[in-house]
Amino acid sequence: MRDPREASLIAVERRRARAAVKRAIQTCARTPLSVAREAWRDPDSPAAGLRITEFLGSISGIGLIKIPRILDVLEISPRKRLGALGARQTEALRVWLHERQTPDSNATQRGRLVVVAGPTAVGKGTVVSRIRERHPGVKFSVSATTRAPRPGEVDGEHYRFVSDDEFDRLVETRQMLEWAVVHGQHRYGTPRGPIVAALESGSSIILEIDIQGARQVKQAMPEAILVFLLPPSWDELVRRLQTRGTESPEEQTRRLETAKVEFDAQSEFDVTVINDDVDAAAEAVVDLMTDN
Ligand code: 5GP
Repeated sequence: MRDPREASLIAVERRRARAAVKRAIQTCARTPLSVAREAWRDPDSPAAGLRITEFLGSISGIGLIKIPRILDVLEISPRKRLGALGARQTEALRVWLHERQTPDSNATQRGRLVVVAGPTAVGKGTVVSRIRERHPGVKFSVSATTRAPRPGEVDGEHYRFVSDDEFDRLVETRQMLEWAVVHGQHRYGTPRGPIVAALESGSSIILEIDIQGARQVKQAMPEAILVFLLPPSWDELVRRLQTRGTESPEEQTRRLETAKVEFDAQSEFDVTVINDDVDAAAEAVVDLMTDN
């Protein structure tokens, strides 16, 4: 019999090792197939101890909605661990992972452009932050803006903070995929280069922009998937705007006026996602990035 304290230390250590494997998949440091192979080779490895649901959830582009569908197709119970699959399940997963890794050479593999828009204070920023945390491999467009950085905002990470002249130059030289004056104040735009580069290299990319911008993107790239994020109710939207405390009362009134108009744009979007649960909304967006 093992000392209970020693047993609990071993359990903590194993959990840490499994978390490191998941992170390696999320950050693309390791391919899912190489992790699965390790699990099948060594049943005592951290990879083997991963639940199949954790394993699949670590793969970029696979969220809570897709996992049950994939497990259904592969006929694997969600309770299974990666290292304890039956022979048929192992083979089915091996083939599935292999096909994901090596796309059909006849098909030109292009990434997807997913545009997340929605009325003010619906929680776009929160949903996008959750996607960043849970799926570090997902690419995001960094917009250019003429507004000043807020405390904690980093140039090139949150936005490219540019002068009015620089913004004019980007527009004139057709470097903007879209741009708009948002809330009647500052200009915001999506630099075209990084989007084209991501899509051509087969990566999907997310844009978090306003509704006018979403319309322009759809016109320029009809294959873009427009996602409209909705609050659970109008009252909840008002409450969120008032409690986040980043806008003055006048600014709040102005943003609510814009929101009323923005609500009417829903029908122009390909998908609506209700943001009543941040995790679920984030996964719904990530699920749109791939077919599986
Ligand atoms: P904030 O100033 O609070 O960061 O953003 C204000 C609004 O600008 C948000 O609704 C956001 O979606 C929108 N926005 C941010 N980047 C872009 C962009 O590149 N293009 C457009 N059209 N809107 C953007």
